Amino acid sequence: RNLQNYNLSSTITNFIHLIESSIKNSNIRMILDLDDDIFIDGYPNELIQCFINIFNNSKDAYEETNQENPLFFIKTQKQNNQVIIKIKDNAQGIPQNIISKIYEPYFTTKHKSQGTGLGLHMTYKLITDGINGKIDAKNVSFEFENQTEIGVE
Ligand code: ADP
Ligand code: MG
Repeated sequence: RNLQNYNLSSTITNFIHLIESSIKNSNIRMILDLDDDIFIDGYPNELIQCFINIFNNSKDAYEETNQENPLFFIKTQKQNNQVIIKIKDNAQGIPQNIISKIYEPYFTTKHKSQGTGLGLHMTYKLITDGINGKIDAKNVSFEFENQTEIGVE
């Protein structure tokens, strides 16, 4: 595990390549609003794993809700020397009564064969213990600006 100074936008591009077939099969539209000048000291492969864990949850949620226009939104920005990554989907949202439990190991609302309840726990560990970051989940309305849509044929 060696610390790297990496470009965030390039790492997000690598993530999108990894999930490309999944995006195509599910008709998911990726909407990006990225600051291309952000560099992070950390572990790009671990961040990609976090993106994959979050994306897989959105994909499950689109399927659960039969969302016909699934959108996955990523925004990056710098604010007071901090890097902020916002990720949103337009599925059902996370019920308010479980939002405090989603990082607990083995917490899942899915059928046993579909959910291990470890995806967000792992993500939480990689962000907090891993790079001293913070992670937070909220239900918000789905609005955005200056977006670029990444079309996958
Ligand atoms: P798993 O996906 O195996 O259930 P996770 O740790 O990835 O475990 O997620 C825990 C729980 O958080 C899920 O079972 C689900 O109830 C909720 N959740 C996570 N992401 C979303 C999302 N994008 N939309 C709705 N619910 C979500
Ligand atoms: Mg999951």
